[in-house]
Amino acid sequence: MNYEKFFSDELKSLKSQGLYRKFREINRTRSTFPKATERDGDSKRQVEVWCSNDYLNLSQHPAIVNETIKVTQELGTGSGGTRNISGTSSYHADLERTLAELHKKDSALIFPSAYTANQSTLWTLCKKLEGIEIYSDELNHASMIQGIKNANVKVHIFRHNDTEHLEELLKTSNANTPKMIVFESLYSMEGLRSPIEKIIWLAEKYNALTYLDEVHSVGLYGPEGRGIASEARVSDKIDIINGTLSKSFGQLGGYVAANADIIDFIRSFAPGFIFTSSVNPSIVASSIKAIKLAKKADHLRREIKFNSDQIRSGLRNLNIPFIENDSHIIPILIKDPVLCKDAANLLVEKHGIYIQPVFFPTVPKGDERFRVTITPKHQAEDITRFLSSLNQVWDKLSLRREATASTPDSQVSKIY
Ligand code: PLP
Repeated sequence: MNYEKFFSDELKSLKSQGLYRKFREINRTRSTFPKATERDGDSKRQVEVWCSNDYLNLSQHPAIVNETIKVTQELGTGSGGTRNISGTSSYHADLERTLAELHKKDSALIFPSAYTANQSTLWTLCKKLEGIEIYSDELNHASMIQGIKNANVKVHIFRHNDTEHLEELLKTSNANTPKMIVFESLYSMEGLRSPIEKIIWLAEKYNALTYLDEVHSVGLYGPEGRGIASEARVSDKIDIINGTLSKSFGQLGGYVAANADIIDFIRSFAPGFIFTSSVNPSIVASSIKAIKLAKKADHLRREIKFNSDQIRSGLRNLNIPFIENDSHIIPILIKDPVLCKDAANLLVEKHGIYIQPVFFPTVPKGDERFRVTITPKHQAEDITRFLSSLNQVWDKLSLRREATASTPDSQVSKIY
């Protein structure tokens, strides 16, 4: 085989489809955010960031930065290894207690990312629960899909948020077969919530476990930012909750929270936990601080909601098509990978507005979009400038305008 040709042909094909990704170098300076500095070769340009998942700006909070420095001075940088060898500090144990309390569960387990937490937990459950059948929402995140897919178990994919379809599928299964329903509380690319209560009701009716990804809701929704399951007062009815430390909490790492035996089981059997070094203690300590601050951040959550509504209202006035929702995620649909990239380039180069274009495999082909997120540091005048810049780019590239709410063309994730 000509390996060189294989790799270069694959990249050429990606480029010819408009699906090749280029990363801009953006330094999110603490003192100026949402203004940041882009480095492009030898030149620098000031840009404003409109696509950060550091939803509460906690990654730049002075108390958290100080905590990172303090614990680094105290314990050094690395954790020293895997948890099974030498990677557990008191901070790790304290963070797991904090996370368990956050979700009102017995225990929690930290992973290097929510991706590995999802992938490894689901893979382990699928492998160990013999004959298990998985019921998975078609828009579930790649990390869940990978965990399930790699385990080679029977998967029923239900239409996005469609509980009638889910029940149709559940009805066909044998009552004695172990089952698990896998879903998210807030879908990251649509900003839409799932019908959690109805899914729990079905899980109880058909004796299925429930696995809920709260990555985009934890820190932002529910009392003290405890997540959407907590807001709906059903956390106790979800068997396993997954979350991240890297979005609202502004750090790095992921976790699962559940009853004591489930967590002990994952701790004992999940390769993605056992065989990888644990997160640096300074990051773990900073996560504890971030969760404490996030609990008290109702005013920031209100601000995010108010400002997201302002943007949606501005987009409606300009007839710029977006997916209607009531969350902090504003998906603006462009539905063409090349135009999406052209629009992103024009925005940054002519208007100093940085939004990364989103295309396959993050979203299905034909549903290319901007995924706009606002943080408490964006001001009213930033929103006005942002909307005006979008409007100019929409004119310049003759992008679609629609008077009504927009929907994606394709709901089915092509990653399965
Ligand atoms: N789950 C969902 C729904 C996500 O959108 C993401 C990442 O964006 C993850 C899990 C993975 O999170 P992390 O960045 O902590 O790996």
